[in-house]
Amino acid sequence: MPQKEISKKQKNQNLPPPIVLYGNLILSQKSTLVDFDSSSDMEHLDANIIEMISAMYSYGGIGLAGPQINIMKRIIVWDHQWVTKKKKYENLHVMINPEVIHSSEEDIGLYENCLSIPEVAGSVYRPKEVTVRYVDTDFETKEEIFDGTSARVIQHEIDHLDGKLFVNQMTKYERDEISHFLVALRQAYNEYSKGDETDDSSTS
Ligand SMILES: [Zn+2]
Repeated sequence: MPQKEISKKQKNQNLPPPIVLYGNLILSQKSTLVDFDSSSDMEHLDANIIEMISAMYSYGGIGLAGPQINIMKRIIVWDHQWVTKKKKYENLHVMINPEVIHSSEEDIGLYENCLSIPEVAGSVYRPKEVTVRYVDTDFETKEEIFDGTSARVIQHEIDHLDGKLFVNQMTKYERDEISHFLVALRQAYNEYSKGDETDDSSTS
C-alpha cells in the first residue's frame, strides 16, 4: 500500500505518519487487542503510542485511534484540553484495549469532527456518560467514569477501533446535508490511491 511507503519515508524524516483518510478501507476494519503476552505487540507498543501522540498533536486533533495512522491495534490517545489550554501532554490520556463497560441511558447530541474526514462536522447522539475499562501505560487495568467532552472523544475513538465512523451515525437529515463532501472526499482518495479499493460501506 502506498500508505506504508509514505509512512516509512516520513518516519525517517522524523515527521508523524500521515493520517489515513476517508475512503481508505483501513478505516472500516476492526483493530485487534494488544496482546501483552506477544513479544511482537510488546516490541512495537511504545513506538506505536509515541507515533499516535505525535500525529494527534501535529495534526491538531484532540483524539486519535490506531487505525488512523495504520496501526491496527486497540489503542487510543486523547487530550481534549490542549487546544484551549495551549499546553500539550498535561491532560494526555493513553488507553490500551479500552472498552465501554457501562453507558448512561441519557443520550446527548454533540458536534464531532475527525482528522480522517477533513472539513466535515456533524451532530451525533451518544451516551452522556460512560464507564471505560482500559489498560494504562504502566500496564494497570483501570475503570473510570467519563462525561462531557472526554466521554465523547473516547466513544468516537473506540468506534474507530471497531471500524465505525461518526458520519455513519449522524441523523439521516444531517448526513444528507454533508453527503456531497463525503463523495468529494472519496473521489479525492480514489484519485490519490489510483485504484485502491474504496470504502462503499459508508454510502448512504
Ligand atoms: Zn475520528
